[in-house]
Amino acid sequence: MLEETTDIRFVKGVGEQRAKLFKKLGVETVADLVRLYPRSYRDLTNLRMISECVPGEVCSVRAVVNSTPVGVRVKNGITLYKTEATDGRDVVHLTYFNNRYIPTLLQGGREYIFTGKLNLNRGRYEMLSPVIDNLSSAGRMMPVYPQTAGLTSRVIESVMRNALAVYSPGYETLPESLREKYKLCPLGFAVRNIHFPENAADALAAKKRLMFEELLVLQLGMAKLKNHDRGFTDAVIKTDYTEEFLEKLPFTLTIAQSNAISDGIRDMGLHEPMNRLLQGDVGSGKTCVAAALVYTAAKNGIQSALMAPTGILATQHYRSFLSFFEGTGIRTALLLGSMKAKEKCEIKQKIADGEIDLVIGTHAIIQKDVSFRRLGLVITDEQHRFGVAQRMSLASKGDNPHTLVMSATPIPRTLALIIYGDLDLSVLDELPPGRQTVDTYVVDSSYHERVYAFIRKYLDRGFQAYIVCPLVEESESADYIGAVEYSKKLRSTAFRDYPTGLLHGKMKQSEKDSVMADFVSGKTKLLIATTVIEVGVDVPNAVIMVIEDADRFGLSQLHQLRGRVGRGSEKSSCILISDAKSPAAKKRLEIMKKSNDGFRIADEDLRLRGPGDFFGEKQHGLPALHIADMLDDMVLCNRSAEAAKELLADDPMLEKEENSSLDKEIKALFKDKYIMN
Ligand code: ADP
Ligand code: MG
Repeated sequence: MLEETTDIRFVKGVGEQRAKLFKKLGVETVADLVRLYPRSYRDLTNLRMISECVPGEVCSVRAVVNSTPVGVRVKNGITLYKTEATDGRDVVHLTYFNNRYIPTLLQGGREYIFTGKLNLNRGRYEMLSPVIDNLSSAGRMMPVYPQTAGLTSRVIESVMRNALAVYSPGYETLPESLREKYKLCPLGFAVRNIHFPENAADALAAKKRLMFEELLVLQLGMAKLKNHDRGFTDAVIKTDYTEEFLEKLPFTLTIAQSNAISDGIRDMGLHEPMNRLLQGDVGSGKTCVAAALVYTAAKNGIQSALMAPTGILATQHYRSFLSFFEGTGIRTALLLGSMKAKEKCEIKQKIADGEIDLVIGTHAIIQKDVSFRRLGLVITDEQHRFGVAQRMSLASKGDNPHTLVMSATPIPRTLALIIYGDLDLSVLDELPPGRQTVDTYVVDSSYHERVYAFIRKYLDRGFQAYIVCPLVEESESADYIGAVEYSKKLRSTAFRDYPTGLLHGKMKQSEKDSVMADFVSGKTKLLIATTVIEVGVDVPNAVIMVIEDADRFGLSQLHQLRGRVGRGSEKSSCILISDAKSPAAKKRLEIMKKSNDGFRIADEDLRLRGPGDFFGEKQHGLPALHIADMLDDMVLCNRSAEAAKELLADDPMLEKEENSSLDKEIKALFKDKYIMN
């Protein structure tokens, strides 16, 4: 028998080597292992004849292989394995790439089940790299696990089978009353059936229960973070100087901005530290809200610190704060690791002496040897680099300063309450009047040359452009464009005569900084990048954003990327390139064409794709979820929110005996360390 806490090495099929691979996935015990959930199933309950399949859709067919495939080397070190298989009526052509096990897996004359997309090409049925199952699996639902860290779905499946043969959770995490009210299956059933369901209904019941539980645990954990004693701060605002700040402002605030400033001023009037998120679309004027709060804080003798994820962004902020504070007497300083030692030393001294009201820099400014005379307000920008863990560590720094977190990622309200459940929310849901919109086009890849010519026309006039690719390197997936190869190609063809830069997430921070600096200064004209440029970069001279394989991105992400242009006075364009044929993908891209409003786009994204993607995005800094990131409808989400509310109303810190196993789950999800008791 295995127990929850048994080391994974004692599961049949796991040796030293595999144990190491599992550890990379965070799986150390049996309890961790059974939480490695399949992402989908191969439904072998419904096998079809080849002619019954819908071309272009994934299906499973039974077919006899004509002959064992033999590898044929083609160009670029690729080896192809081709064969044919028949279901007695039709023939399907099978092709595999670079998989030297294929000849041992497929033997001529034997029957298998093939699962994959069936294409019909000039009257010929084809499948590329279909998954192979033995006939004995017919009638079953086969779990498909994410292939990571060198563990294939097959390996995980067999290890899981071995584990579940001798293990079943002997406990229940959800209180009985809750399970009854929300009609959720028991944990034991859920764990067995999420991995090896007999049919789709059981798989769904299991998935619902586990998702519900994880969402509940997430919300309870966030609520605990919010409700725990945040300590006490001396940095309390006595007088509100907002009116004075506004007199010097060259524009009128939006209503949303005024409300957000009032929220912040109210919070900072208390001894309990502020813990607030300021959420607003690109250009909604978050910086101005932050500046107003810094202004009042400074006039009350309280110092502020603003942190950005990179030096470039910090420098950008420094410039805008300087212009906000021009002629106000507010003393602002920039502090970067790259500055000269003497200069840094002087600034630090001034901070210590209270001669600086606002210091702007990267995260290092509050971690390193900077001591403040009276730090009372900490602002972080582009919140997605600062997850729940960092928010906690921030709040516990120094004398529990007030904290304001700024995020440019619009999220539907209902989800924001969950994702940022540990924070109070201020939302800038309107843009200042008179903003120019970015013209958005959707084209297929046959337009490439025209797109390049369009870009060159603008580069020739001195403007700059971005091209974003979904991947760093092509090998990650043969179907999509990788930034590295693509930039190589473009540099020797369409953009031979233009200085171009390449930016992606696998580069070192210092390399990224220097590529970015070259683009900001205009030394490079075209930047070919992955989504790393999403984060707050402001280059008003860049007027074209081209996104390759645009259907691969979430709408919110596309919107963020688009927000990188349209920041100057020149009319800007965003060109989405996609060969996606599915109506759903087309519809999503159409929404981009129609709307420039981040919150509307986020709502549409939620409607079309479900909430799972919002939980899955790393940028929100949530703990790593096991299953809720697959959630595709809001109903379950709303129910779990209702359940969380009821539980918390009854037991705010989850101290009652009946909630103790839930509390344990919270600690497991949040890895213990962020949860205070
Ligand atoms: P965000 O940080 O939310 O993307 P910013 O604070 O950088 O937006 O604001 C974008 C631009 O709009 C800045 O140039 C800012 O000065 C200006 N701005 C901010 N608020 C207003 C307003 N109420 N009316 C007009 N312009 C504004
Ligand atoms: Mg900004």
